[in-house]
Amino acid sequence: MDQTARWDPRTSLKNSDRMSRNDCFQFHCGPTVPCFTECCRKLDLALTPYDVLRLCKRLDMAPSDFLDDYTVIKAGSRHGFPEFSLKMGMDGERLCPFVSENGCTVYEDRPGACRIYPLGRASSKSRSTNLNEEFYFLVKEPHCKGFEQSRRWAVDEWICDQEIEQYNRLNDQLMELYMLGFRRGLAQLSTQQLQMFVMACYNLAKFREFIFKTSFLTKFQLSINEIDLIRNDDVALLEFSFKWLKFALFGVASIKLKSDGNIAS
Ligand code: SF4
Ligand code: SF4
Repeated sequence: MDQTARWDPRTSLKNSDRMSRNDCFQFHCGPTVPCFTECCRKLDLALTPYDVLRLCKRLDMAPSDFLDDYTVIKAGSRHGFPEFSLKMGMDGERLCPFVSENGCTVYEDRPGACRIYPLGRASSKSRSTNLNEEFYFLVKEPHCKGFEQSRRWAVDEWICDQEIEQYNRLNDQLMELYMLGFRRGLAQLSTQQLQMFVMACYNLAKFREFIFKTSFLTKFQLSINEIDLIRNDDVALLEFSFKWLKFALFGVASIKLKSDGNIAS
């Protein structure tokens, strides 16, 4: 699952390697392949905010406990924000904590990187249309026998089968935030602002408390419907997190202040 590696497929891949949603590939994964679960060890598995949200629900854990028990934090990214990776076993095998001999124990809520393999995806916002443009590419790990199986998939069919669309949608919003960090430089962001990022992206329970137990709602223009959604729906809250961070960290007009709003804090 090396598609998380630090290379840029937009510039590194030949045009012929780029796949559209209609292109096809040959692959099958499951208990019958001889390499079953080989890919669940010795890997660096970055967790996106949506991955963390799904895994917390799955394990019925508070986000703060999940982050403590299951993740390692990485600094030094090019966009300047901290990143979380799944904490692997400490021995030489570096096993994923969720793998068993029968496969993945969190299968329905496995991270996006586990779902999308053997594909990788590159996306960016078009400056002319302001829409996200994407392409896919194959990631062929040498140990993976899945490519020797006869099943053929269209990229679109794989995305649907692995339920990747929602991950893509939310990850694109995270990427927009990363791009802002990358373009504007994060040197001027304080420790407190980086803590805001971690709270809003990775600890939704705390962010919800921040919204509903402080004067937050007296400062921003939100409809009753929006307030209801972010109170009750974690995905809506995560989408609001991205908007709030764009506003709070970079001054993007992604949410509106009330006319008498006062954001001095
Ligand atoms: S989360 Fe599941 S699929 Fe992903 S590496 Fe761990 S065991 Fe494998
Ligand atoms: S076929 Fe590939 S993805 Fe599936 S278990 Fe084997 S190594 Fe992992």
